[in-house]
Amino acid sequence: MIPVFDGHNDVLLRLWGKKHGDPVSAFIEGDGEGHLDLPRMIRGGLAGGFFAIFVPSPQDEEFADEEEMNPPPANEVGQFAALAATVGMASLLFRIEEASQGRFKVCRSAAEIRAAMAEGKIAAIFHLEGAEAIDTELRALDVLHRAGLRSLGLVWSRDNAFGRGVPFRFPSSPDTGMGLTEAGKQLVRRCNELKILLDLSHLNEKGFWDVARASTAPLVATHSNAHALCASSRNLTDEQIRIIGKSGGMIGLNFANGFLRADGRWQSENGLDTMLRHLDHLMKLAGEDHVGLGSDFDGARIPSQIGDAAGLPALVTAMEGHGYGGELTKKLCSENWLRVLERTWGE
Ligand SMILES: [Zn+2]
Repeated sequence: MIPVFDGHNDVLLRLWGKKHGDPVSAFIEGDGEGHLDLPRMIRGGLAGGFFAIFVPSPQDEEFADEEEMNPPPANEVGQFAALAATVGMASLLFRIEEASQGRFKVCRSAAEIRAAMAEGKIAAIFHLEGAEAIDTELRALDVLHRAGLRSLGLVWSRDNAFGRGVPFRFPSSPDTGMGLTEAGKQLVRRCNELKILLDLSHLNEKGFWDVARASTAPLVATHSNAHALCASSRNLTDEQIRIIGKSGGMIGLNFANGFLRADGRWQSENGLDTMLRHLDHLMKLAGEDHVGLGSDFDGARIPSQIGDAAGLPALVTAMEGHGYGGELTKKLCSENWLRVLERTWGE
């Protein structure tokens, strides 16, 4: 089985929101809910990835299914509330590691990831999706970094002190508003200094180009697709895809039906062929060394042919059947991610 290293999952949020039982043992023993737990990761060859900490918006309105493609804008989150929730979910990540008896490791370097994967341990990256928990003096960033934070999305799809998230819209360009704030530009500089990977998924287009100009690191969109094939505001324009490739960066293919399908629908079924078309397009523009997977497991509706983490081999087989060959499939499944992490973090 070809191991997969993945750009994005939301299992910590799913576990954090569990109403019953112990979330740590739910993950380790497997609860069969959502897309991801330790037994299903092992069965599917999901060897590791970015474990996102995402703080939901307060009092988000319920919206009807017809509004799935254009939901109302998400409410902003206050810093103290975001920091408290972030500490809670980070604690969950570390307690999973502690209770896993060596089967799950929170990795702080690319060498640690390679070693964990070689030993058959799940290699997890502590990732923050949206910087609400961080104050504009960036003090919380120092502490989170020392605790193991190695990857940060400046925004989720809402506004914060650092920038403007791209709202979920279809069809829509990602150019939906102003770029980074001054605090956002300082956050980019500080992340460069600390060698924290900056994730551009969920950032609007002006913010994207602000980071592209300011950052000294490879440009990375952990879970985004090609706008030319699915005109969601969350997807990347051809120009964005090209500059990510030129920077030596990385795009992780998002499995969400709503970011894959040409009609942008979330509820409808979607075949693996759409995923292959996006991979082809991303590789054509960014280059085959700059594309990988960014499943969005536990964060989105995904093709039922994959179903959950245990179904990953269906995608890997489809990639091989599409003519990618063993070497390229390995690059797309994990090697490209590991190389960009080495470039961003140092050895
Ligand atoms: Zn996301």
